Amino acid sequence: MAQNDYYKTLGVDKGADVDEIRKAYRRLARKHHPDLNPGDKASEDRFKQVQEAYDVLSDPKKKQMYDQVGFYSENGMPGGAGGYGAGNRPGGPNMGFGGFDFSDFAKGAGSGSGRPRGPEAGESANFQDIFSQWFGRQQHEPQEARPEKGSDLEYGLSIDFWQAIRGTQVRLKINRQEVCTTCGGSGARAGANTVCPECNGSGNVTQMAGAMRFSLTCPRCEGTGRLTNRCGTCHGDGRISHSETVEVRIPPGAQQGSRLRVAGKGNAGTHGAPAGDLYITVRVEPHPLFKREGDDIEIEVPVRIDEAGLGTKIEVPTIDGRALLKIPQGTKNGQKFRLREKGVQNSRSGTRGDQIVEVVLEAPVVQDERTKELLREYAELHPEDPRTEIWNKV
Ligand SMILES: [Zn+2]
Ligand SMILES: [Zn+2]
Repeated sequence: MAQNDYYKTLGVDKGADVDEIRKAYRRLARKHHPDLNPGDKASEDRFKQVQEAYDVLSDPKKKQMYDQVGFYSENGMPGGAGGYGAGNRPGGPNMGFGGFDFSDFAKGAGSGSGRPRGPEAGESANFQDIFSQWFGRQQHEPQEARPEKGSDLEYGLSIDFWQAIRGTQVRLKINRQEVCTTCGGSGARAGANTVCPECNGSGNVTQMAGAMRFSLTCPRCEGTGRLTNRCGTCHGDGRISHSETVEVRIPPGAQQGSRLRVAGKGNAGTHGAPAGDLYITVRVEPHPLFKREGDDIEIEVPVRIDEAGLGTKIEVPTIDGRALLKIPQGTKNGQKFRLREKGVQNSRSGTRGDQIVEVVLEAPVVQDERTKELLREYAELHPEDPRTEIWNKV
């Protein structure tokens, strides 16, 4: 069986874009429309071919199939290659031109089939209306009650330094979609699922235009053949938005940017599908002294020059309280010392980080004569130039 060459039918190249295809279709549809060619069987056939060609070439999915295998069928690829068009309505594709509004170019022809249009509605706008309404409905599969997992929710949470270290329990007020209790998530009013009286459950209605009969998707039930009254609470969605307080446990050692997952506290799924999850991104407020570096804590500690020069033991703050730190003789400014396992407890690994103490040497405050004397004495003992090194680098 020879396949139709839809491109040839529309008189366009194979590489024609959507616009060219639409323009060609408009021109030909106008030329061959039955209203304008009453009783002309050849024109009527031609019009149908043009329509069929446009139906396929204007739809990206159909066009792709046509381009690949040379024809389009709603029943899918040949050889059962795939479920293309699965879930077909009974009665096959609805070809026909019922509902086609030709008022614009049938003006003055006395055609009673077209709806009157206001002068402000341009021709192209009319066409678009027609296409979206006509093709849009054809492609529209019946709304199945397909279960879909609920979407995840994202929340940001600020906690202070100590809450992050020790862990905490917070109550978060979130807005989420919950299963509608009125309809139990079905979206339908109880006992309202009845056969559509418009199409008697077939999903299709027949329309007459002149001597021709056209099968259309039933507008009342949208092709499903059944009428479902929508639940008054959720308006058919099966879910309602509400505000909820969620108790969240932040484990000890939480870090800046940590993400916590609270399973099942995202939006509810549809038709019994599971809910999404709630994700909480933690922001830790900085501490004026302790700096977090992963599981390590860093602090700067001022040290006097005599302490650094002679060596000593000093007390430094840690997240556990005071700790003793040995400052060895000859400690330099900026030198760092590690206090093992004085850092943050990592709840995942169970181990603790360290505390890193950076020494900041403080210049002595010299106001009295005695101190000046001592420093002069010191200078006499150590006349070496501390800047020798830097001159070597210039
Ligand atoms: Zn409901
Ligand atoms: Zn119906």
